[in-house]
Amino acid sequence: MKHIWTPWRKPYVAGQVRHEGCVFCRIVAQDEQHDPANYVLHRGQRVFAVLNLYPYNNGHLMVLPYEHIANLDDLAPPTQADLMHLVCYFVGIIRRGMSPAGFNIGVNLGRAAGAGIDDHVHVHVVPRWLGDTNFMPVIAETRVIPELLDETYRNLRALVEQYPPPC
Ligand SMILES: [Zn+2]
Repeated sequence: MKHIWTPWRKPYVAGQVRHEGCVFCRIVAQDEQHDPANYVLHRGQRVFAVLNLYPYNNGHLMVLPYEHIANLDDLAPPTQADLMHLVCYFVGIIRRGMSPAGFNIGVNLGRAAGAGIDDHVHVHVVPRWLGDTNFMPVIAETRVIPELLDETYRNLRALVEQYPPPC
């Protein structure tokens, strides 16, 4: 599935590695004023979080480093730590705001593993509800995604402002 992200974030982290053709890097490069349009939920010191434009489920977000790096093991240890801290934080935020029955959390490293974008590592956080397995095809056909994304973004962003992220 092709992602056409509209970008965001000015140069920010020293020594940051960027890649021009990368949708995540384009988002990072845009100014913060575009965060709502890009569904950026939080910009931390080393990692940030965005809603997935092609969600497997409502509330599907991604936590990722600013740096254009493909592998978890190539990230600096502080970035690795922040990545997991923010994943855990958003599990709490989603639970608070959306009351899911469970979560799928994971990383696809490499095309062979199913990564749509395989050169900028990202952690998927997908809330799950009982009986929600057909969510994706249904909303894909009814084109309800933009409204749903907007509403989910507003709800989660409000919670992020209420409960400051750890990093
Ligand atoms: Zn990138």
